[in-house]
Amino acid sequence: MSRDSDVIVVGAGLVGSAIAYGLLRQGLNVALLDEGDVAFRASRGNFGLVWVQGKGYGCAAYARWTLASSKLWSGFAADLLDETGVNVELIQNGGFHFCLSDAEFSERRKRLEWLQAEVGPHYEFEMLEQVALRDRLPGVGPDVTGASYTPMDGHVNPLKLFHALHKACVGRGAALHVNRRVDGIRYDNRAFTVTTAGDTVRAPRLILAAGLGNKVLADKVGLYAPVEPNQGQVLIGERIAPFLKNPTIYVRQTDEGTIQIGDSMEDCGYNDTTRTDVLAAIAARAIVCFPRLANLNIVRSWAALRVMSPDGYPIYQESTTCPGAFVATCHSGVTLAAAHALRVAPWMAGQSPPEEMDVFSGARFLDPHREFHNDH
Ligand SMILES: Cc1cc2nc3c(=O)[nH]c(=O)nc-3n(C[C@H](O)[C@H](O)[C@H](O)COP(=O)(O)OP(=O)(O)OC[C@H]3O[C@@H](n4cnc5c(N)ncnc54)[C@H](O)[C@@H]3O)c2cc1C
Repeated sequence: MSRDSDVIVVGAGLVGSAIAYGLLRQGLNVALLDEGDVAFRASRGNFGLVWVQGKGYGCAAYARWTLASSKLWSGFAADLLDETGVNVELIQNGGFHFCLSDAEFSERRKRLEWLQAEVGPHYEFEMLEQVALRDRLPGVGPDVTGASYTPMDGHVNPLKLFHALHKACVGRGAALHVNRRVDGIRYDNRAFTVTTAGDTVRAPRLILAAGLGNKVLADKVGLYAPVEPNQGQVLIGERIAPFLKNPTIYVRQTDEGTIQIGDSMEDCGYNDTTRTDVLAAIAARAIVCFPRLANLNIVRSWAALRVMSPDGYPIYQESTTCPGAFVATCHSGVTLAAAHALRVAPWMAGQSPPEEMDVFSGARFLDPHREFHNDH
């Protein structure tokens, strides 16, 4: 079958769905194509944090970009609730990053001081030593040295977010096609023809938001997205009575009472299977943080692949050789969902780019003299 639309979005994960939703809000007619269940999908395996603190150490533009997205989040969640009836359970009451040694505590302070100096005094944070931390967060274990706290952090239910975005897109008339792996892209007469096994879709704009799939697709339209997988494993504990009102970097309690314990970071290629030693280490760390979790029943575990650029920062770029083609990819697609819908999508629809965009061009990876440290 062949059809036309204003814009094709390849990839209906959190990045593609948020951008598609934003494009629909701009009044565009959107075709959203997704490979389906066989693909790697970070959007179904993440930790659900809307997290600001610590992000962008060494790249203030990323810190500002993340903070700006977190500020858009409450309006974004309210709009999704309004349109779809799905409450994504956003709570932005501040988050704790635990430090498990003195060295970690002083490194943390150094990083947050740098970020505050770069971003401004509104980048508020506190370094809490053990007594102050236990006072603020009862139940923290004696082997936790301290924590950084910022009021900027929060969390959502990421599966409800995913569902809300798809529902909002379909509700606004998007054509959502699953089991459509995009293989071919042709650019002629200022339009893109995209082919899948069963379909051809043509549009003057094309957004590549295919997660790890962007690595291959970007090249077809003169873009560069050298993303690689980074594995994260997560444990899910049974639902228990509320005991943890704030999200923390390693443990959070969801709106439903479930305990989510995360997450590892490992480069092991496209392997998305769990390993007992990694899960055991995650569990042990969670028990150090909250000794009461030693008695928790674990009901589920999984591994998922983060979409990582060489420096850990997002890639957003419009092609110069095929104008109208854009790439969007990042490793914090929950946190940045609001920015993707409300700031990136209007640019991709034809408005001027947000000021941070230049920093995030994939062209930065083509500079042979530049060194990258993945220190997000
Ligand atoms: C363990 C873990 C914990 C995380 N925790 C957090 C967190 O707390 N907070 C946060 O902000 N982020 C977190 N993330 C990151 C977040 O989940 C990702 O940034 C986000 O899901 C990326 O979304 P995406 O749409 O780019 O990629 P994906 O979810 O991977 O989606 C890509 C989509 O593209 C489709 N696709 C691929 N190739 C093709 C093709 N050729 N044709 C058609 N479709 C294609 C696939 O079917 C897929 O649906 C975490 C990730 C992991 C793994």
